[in-house]
Amino acid sequence: MVKVGVMGLTGCSGCQCEILNCEDAINRLIGRVEFSYFPLAQDSNGFSDFDILFVEGSVSTELDREKLIEGRKRAKILVAVGTCSCYGGVQSQRNDEASLEEMLRAVYGEKRPEVRVFKPAPLSEVVEVDYELPGCPMDKKQFVYTVASLLNGVEPFFPKIPVCHECKLSENECLLLNGIPCQGPVSFSGCGAPCTAQGVGCQGCRGNCDFPNFEELLSIYDRLGLKGEDAVRFLKVFRGKTLPKLKERSVDEKGA
Ligand code: SF4
Ligand code: SF4
Repeated sequence: MVKVGVMGLTGCSGCQCEILNCEDAINRLIGRVEFSYFPLAQDSNGFSDFDILFVEGSVSTELDREKLIEGRKRAKILVAVGTCSCYGGVQSQRNDEASLEEMLRAVYGEKRPEVRVFKPAPLSEVVEVDYELPGCPMDKKQFVYTVASLLNGVEPFFPKIPVCHECKLSENECLLLNGIPCQGPVSFSGCGAPCTAQGVGCQGCRGNCDFPNFEELLSIYDRLGLKGEDAVRFLKVFRGKTLPKLKERSVDEKGA
């Protein structure tokens, strides 16, 4: 029996809920897989050795760090699930804009709580990670595919092609042509482009595709009226520090 654990650090538990949403597939795994640790889903949990440990959330507290290091020691394969665990998540989007002390003071004023917190970090800054399944939340089909691959001794493979690819396969009309900012050209696909199918620009919740051309996309945003710092912040929400330093472009510069 393959022992699987699901651990949550700092996050919204949305990715763990996505695992629970895989009911059909999980039923088919009964007899091959034992969820020996999944506190969100069951009362009885043993924190022993794992064949596969899925970890959701960013490392933001001392407890997160301790749990993760202990989990890594006990897991043959460790998989980061969701954008918080892969890149730091939305809670890390302003990590480089202020010190931790300044951020705590801005939120809590002088009555800041006496808890030991860190700037939210992805798992890979603390331990070695074997596979990453980004997304906010992660895509449940990719979770099932990963489990099935690992159970059968096959390396899961996730080509880092842009969301535009899946958007085109779905025959969606390009939102950029209709003046709606979209991050599809620079975002890692695998979700099936559900947002653009609904007329909502991709927010890049799965992080960067390979060879993203941010500068060119910023030029397009500028023409659509999304400019300067606002445009960079739009790109930064889910990417945190995986967004490279971009050249500041003023309105006048663009007009030239
Ligand atoms: S709508 Fe977005 S994801 Fe779809 S083709 Fe246009 S830019 Fe790409
Ligand atoms: S289309 Fe973009 S924002 Fe929507 S799920 Fe896919 S990567 Fe995330």
